Amino acid sequence: MDSSQAKQRWQELAALIEEARTRYYQHDAPTISDEEYDRAFRELIELEAAFPELVTGDSPTQSVGGNRETMFEPVEHLLRMYSLDNVFDADELDVWTQRVVRDLGQEPAFLCELKVDGLAVDIIYRDGVLETLATRGDGRVGEDVTFNVPFIEGIPRRLSGVDLPSLLEVRGEVYFDVADFDEINREQAERLQPAYANPRNAAAGTLRQRVDRRLAKVEEARSKSESTRARAQEDVDQALSRLSRLKLIVHGIGAREGYSPAAQSECYAAMAGWGLPTSARVTVVASAAAAVDYVKHWGEHRHDVEHEIDGVVIKVDAFTLQGQLGETSRAPRWAIAFKYPPEVVRTRLLDIEVNVGRTGRVTPFAVMEPVKVAGSTVSMATLHNPEEVLRKGVLIGDMVFLRKAGDVIPEVLGPVVEVRTGSERAFVMPNVCPSCGGDLAPEKEGDVDIRCLNHAGCPSQVRERISHIGSRGGFDIEGLGEKAAAALVDDGVLENEAGLFDLGAHDLLQSPFFTRSSKDGPELTATAEKLLVNIAAAKSRPLWRVLVSLSIRHVGPTAAQALAEEFATVDAIMAADTDALAAVDGVGGVIAQSVTEWFTEAWHRDIVQRWLSAGVVMADVLKARASDALDGLTVVITGSLPGYTRDSAAEAVTERGGKVSGSVSKKTDVVVAGENAGSKFDKAVALGVPVLDADGFAALLEHGPSAIPGR
Ligand SMILES: [Zn+2]
Repeated sequence: MDSSQAKQRWQELAALIEEARTRYYQHDAPTISDEEYDRAFRELIELEAAFPELVTGDSPTQSVGGNRETMFEPVEHLLRMYSLDNVFDADELDVWTQRVVRDLGQEPAFLCELKVDGLAVDIIYRDGVLETLATRGDGRVGEDVTFNVPFIEGIPRRLSGVDLPSLLEVRGEVYFDVADFDEINREQAERLQPAYANPRNAAAGTLRQRVDRRLAKVEEARSKSESTRARAQEDVDQALSRLSRLKLIVHGIGAREGYSPAAQSECYAAMAGWGLPTSARVTVVASAAAAVDYVKHWGEHRHDVEHEIDGVVIKVDAFTLQGQLGETSRAPRWAIAFKYPPEVVRTRLLDIEVNVGRTGRVTPFAVMEPVKVAGSTVSMATLHNPEEVLRKGVLIGDMVFLRKAGDVIPEVLGPVVEVRTGSERAFVMPNVCPSCGGDLAPEKEGDVDIRCLNHAGCPSQVRERISHIGSRGGFDIEGLGEKAAAALVDDGVLENEAGLFDLGAHDLLQSPFFTRSSKDGPELTATAEKLLVNIAAAKSRPLWRVLVSLSIRHVGPTAAQALAEEFATVDAIMAADTDALAAVDGVGGVIAQSVTEWFTEAWHRDIVQRWLSAGVVMADVLKARASDALDGLTVVITGSLPGYTRDSAAEAVTERGGKVSGSVSKKTDVVVAGENAGSKFDKAVALGVPVLDADGFAALLEHGPSAIPGR
């Protein structure tokens, strides 16, 4: 890069940063993500390092950022509020700590604290009484928002305790807890207002408002119409409700009189004593290595904190050492912010497509320019349903904010409206299935979901059903996942799941997915051979797995197990009427209806028939009952019984129609207490439940309940 290219790039970056700062500080609506901002800023710093002539007084690297808003009165901070330099990985942190150690000639103690995703503020207390609350602004002059203080419970108006300094300038972060932030975005959606991209923007938007003027409007509206009054009141209620939810964590001091702490940690402790909110997660460590551990720990536990954090701040604890290190024009040399990977990024929404699920449900999803977020590359995100697309207000072609937190699935937050060009277009739900061309419509009148009604033949639905059969909750067939299911359907091996258990080697040979070439032509891969073995083995799985695999709507493992236990065979379930099905514990009306309807479809019954002829065991083998002697009796067994193990004693009861329970209650009919019976025996006595010994147990098995005393 020559110097004229460098100059041009410098201008681009400076303009981008200034624009972003203006938007961020004045409108609380960023148009680029934090990551893009940080990247641009770092590129600018590097560029200026290589071409020092570019460093001018108006460079963004020479100012802290943010201009004053005319809506607010300016407040000059007593001491300047610096911003922090950032590092993004362990190596960069290492470079920083090494420089600190070198410059100080010793390894200092470091104070480590979480970097709260909020809005930095400066608060001045004189003789313990709050004088001003100001935003950070450009670092020297901020905006006066003192009129909001009476409504923010989290900010003390008066310090308490002893030895109050005559002057104390406190620095802190004003923020929302994650729960409050989510609640506020729900309120925004209800009011058809755009969601806040992050808690910091929400905090800024809440603090930087003239609640005093809104209250005056309510006064003015007294003489106006009912609806004007109601609107003014609602407006102020919302503002007050949000202000009341703001919280404060203090993380530094500026000017002070009548107080001279020796270390950052010492002043935190003093501030806590005066009633200022400090974080319990602040810690002082003796080495750089321990600071790295802190960074690592909170990187892994980032979402265990009740508020969002975007990193960790590490400060040299002792004020004398801070003084030795000093500041650059922009940031202190004695502190650094370690930034975690961004969880909200910006990318282009290229298209909205729909996907057809196992039950035919049509779900729109976003196709985006691939982007790295929270450590993985994301190019798709579900949009759930057409209402969700409307609610988010996204258009195809929009720049959108995308969030991915940890293992959570990626989510499109909303559009960056400011950068629209007019070429964006709205998503229109298709009325034919993208997979089979069939009609898309609600299954029944009044259904919210749109479905492809061609359940029998729609390739997309068949693929999904087949991979469901292979899944853990279904037949649990190793090798029958999404890819194998897609190959079976797309290569014409299977028309639908009816033929699954008839599959043989010659069938799989039709699909390249299951074959490799040999000198005698294509042959099955080892995985394909294994799949055939696994399919054969699956034929004798328990009945509930068969039921789940039939993809009957609402029938998951729990309902399937309840049905299997009650009816034992598919034939019995098919023969049962809706009432009989609904009466089963854990089934109920909706599932029962769904099961009955499922069996009325001829092609469904065909699946059952074909699976049966292929050798799928569609019944659970029941243990024959020895007798009904203990029918309906609840028995608790405790201690050891001669001639029985715990299991065989229980089996002796269930074989006779009794139920074995693990704990004694008033519903227990009898407790069998062998040798070394413990607390269950005591409980039986306390509840007045009859107790039998080993001989009594033998009599019970032989004669039934008449062997129980008092029966
Ligand atoms: Zn279809």
